Amino acid sequence: MYTTVKHILDDAVKHHYAVAACTAVNLELARGEIAAADELQAPLIILLGQGQMSRHGNADVMVPMIKRLAEKTNVPVALILDHGKEWQYITCAFRYGFSSIMIDASAYSMEENILRTQKVVELCHPQGVAVEGEIGHVGQAADMDGCKENLYTRPEDAVRFVEATQVDCLAIACGTAHGKYPAGFVPKLNFDIIRKVREATNVPLALHGGSGSGDENIRMAVEAGINKVNICTDIFNYCRDFTQDALEKNPDYDYLQLLIDIEAKAKEITSRYIRLTGSCGKAANFTPVNTFSENRVLISAGIGE
Ligand SMILES: [Zn+2]
Repeated sequence: MYTTVKHILDDAVKHHYAVAACTAVNLELARGEIAAADELQAPLIILLGQGQMSRHGNADVMVPMIKRLAEKTNVPVALILDHGKEWQYITCAFRYGFSSIMIDASAYSMEENILRTQKVVELCHPQGVAVEGEIGHVGQAADMDGCKENLYTRPEDAVRFVEATQVDCLAIACGTAHGKYPAGFVPKLNFDIIRKVREATNVPLALHGGSGSGDENIRMAVEAGINKVNICTDIFNYCRDFTQDALEKNPDYDYLQLLIDIEAKAKEITSRYIRLTGSCGKAANFTPVNTFSENRVLISAGIGE
């Protein structure tokens, strides 16, 4: 079932769990991740970043492929543009059929962030496309941004931002960061921020930079009110490490078999995060009606450059 993050995450808020949001930049990752969701009967969110699309998996080929894979399973699967920043990428993702779009204007002032996010909501909501915004700023692990408390979300800002923009999901900054943390480093999360935003709003909350954050931190973040856990680096590195190891052991590894085995590894790591977020079996909460596909017709017919 191809659907939106709003459809998936409203249920996660209602029943107090989180959904794994996993990056897929090719067939092997997308199919392995969806196979994990199918096996565990869990809703799943696929992430595809603006930067990743510009370098590798373009929207025109990735979206139809992921939609087809989503339609072949009964579990709800959403595809979201991750960290959309430039308007051209956002409209491109919109036109090609992403069910959901993240607008990341978190590097701007509060006022500018609200204005830019409002503009995306105005584009997306009439067509049933869900929107994620970010307040506070989730930075880079390599720069130790997760430790910079001045980047953390202020709960009062989150309330104002959600009211002003009407986003369907809110990314908050509370101690995690993107990319790989230094060896041995486990981030210290401020769970109070999550609790306060959760108490003050009904909006689903996203934790970015879930990779390497530690199982206990993720469990506690979900307990505090997180509904979407973004995982990219752990999936990439898990598949890369497998490949490196496989080729070291057998330099003549058959290339097709290597791709098949990488897909199995993507399924394995995704299953781990589905279990950790508490979304196993939650597909049963969703009716098998895909109202979103009706909206797709309107989009392809009505939206041009
Ligand atoms: Zn992110």
